[in-house]
Amino acid sequence: MPLYEYYCDNEKCTEVVEELLPTYKRDTLVGHVCTQCDTGKLLRKVSMSHAQDLDFTAKSKTDRELRNPTGEFREVMQRMKDSPTVDRASRKNLESKYNI
Ligand SMILES: [Zn+2]
Repeated sequence: MPLYEYYCDNEKCTEVVEELLPTYKRDTLVGHVCTQCDTGKLLRKVSMSHAQDLDFTAKSKTDRELRNPTGEFREVMQRMKDSPTVDRASRKNLESKYNI
């Protein structure tokens, strides 16, 4: 999930809130009254979080896909994990490596 940053629109207030949110929820906090000064409202910082988001996606896409296999590959790995011939250490290894 991308990390979104929110800042208070009261210019005397320095409140910054960071939240990890799914993209469709990124505006959930916008408009909320600032908990620091109680007068300002939260706005989303756009440029920074967007750049981070893209960077993050490019860098870790492959890694994430490998760690969270889907479909057939995942099934095979699960079957391997559940196989009685696989010893406990290998099973643990499979579990942590593929998140199964
Ligand atoms: Zn504030």
